Amino acid sequence: MKPPDRAELERWEEERLAPYAQRSQASAGRLVAEPEPRHRTAFARDRDRIVHSQAFRRLEYKTQVFVYHEGDHYRNRLTHTLEGSQIARTLARALRVNEELAEAVVLAHDLGHTPFGHAGEHALDALMREHGGFDHNRQTLRTVDLLEHRYPDFDGLNLTAETRAGILKHGADFDHPVALPELSASASLEAQIADISDEIAYVNHDLDDGLRSGLLDLEQLEQVRLWDDERRRVEERLGEASTRVLQAQTVRALIDRLVTDLLAHTVARIEAHGVTTAEAVRDLGQPLVGFGEETARQRSELKRFLSDELYQHPRVVRMSRKAGRILDDLFGIYRDDPRQLPRAVLARFDREGEARAIADYIAGMTDRFALAEHRKLLDPHEPV
Ligand code: MG
Repeated sequence: MKPPDRAELERWEEERLAPYAQRSQASAGRLVAEPEPRHRTAFARDRDRIVHSQAFRRLEYKTQVFVYHEGDHYRNRLTHTLEGSQIARTLARALRVNEELAEAVVLAHDLGHTPFGHAGEHALDALMREHGGFDHNRQTLRTVDLLEHRYPDFDGLNLTAETRAGILKHGADFDHPVALPELSASASLEAQIADISDEIAYVNHDLDDGLRSGLLDLEQLEQVRLWDDERRRVEERLGEASTRVLQAQTVRALIDRLVTDLLAHTVARIEAHGVTTAEAVRDLGQPLVGFGEETARQRSELKRFLSDELYQHPRVVRMSRKAGRILDDLFGIYRDDPRQLPRAVLARFDREGEARAIADYIAGMTDRFALAEHRKLLDPHEPV
């Protein structure tokens, strides 16, 4: 048997994908022209470059909700990303759009996240207010375009325009040393899938981790329709079961419910709008991937619950404030005397400006590294 070459893989896309899917052969290309691989499509190469990047490996020690030392079974940004990408693949395959593009966008989507989750992002944004601010989507684009160093001829990973546009999502009006990806009126179906898969993954695993940690309890969740409906169904089906099994089965049923609802309503919207090309999807000016009205309402209720009861739980807020103080300290200490920074960071001052180069350095840190660095800089008993 002869292994399929890229031309054949592109032919498979032609035969198997829906007409509104993004074809790898029709990609607008990369910032720096390169010969495409022999046995992979352009989007498969994007995905592989993301998985092999240093920033991807650092996701393991970056907070989702719980900081890494709070427990071994909570999600971190790496496991969050993997759960999201697996949902994206299911959705992309079911809608017959480009699985590899959707997967690449999800695998990359959190590469620019600071240590300590959104608390870290807010702290860095405030510290960078005079210097153009900080936003994690933008930082993800900086990571894949500029901050990875693996190739002799260019900085970054030199991803395709479609993966870069999916990463940036919105707001393409800021300084960026290389050309920004062009954003159309709407995102591609693959990027829309990536976005919603991120959300389906986090609402479900945050519920799961919230219960596991004891910050949420099952009784509280009775007020959340989406959860309660599924829990009742699972209880009827299982009869007697341990709390742990009941909880896991409810999360499982909830993901299935969201995915099933999303597929049905997305197909209906695609048909109603009569889109037949990837360009028509991008020109539409409104999203096609989405839930039905009832589920959309219940999903907002669930997100509100998570925000009030989990993300603003006193224990989470205390950790968030602590994280904010750590990033304030690091930024201030480096700004006071930049000679404390590694030479590689100093070398970027001329091109990026001092504040931005420091923000890039801090944003790239894992929780673990930031905590250790903070101790080293402030505790005289620690080795420097
Ligand atoms: Mg995410």
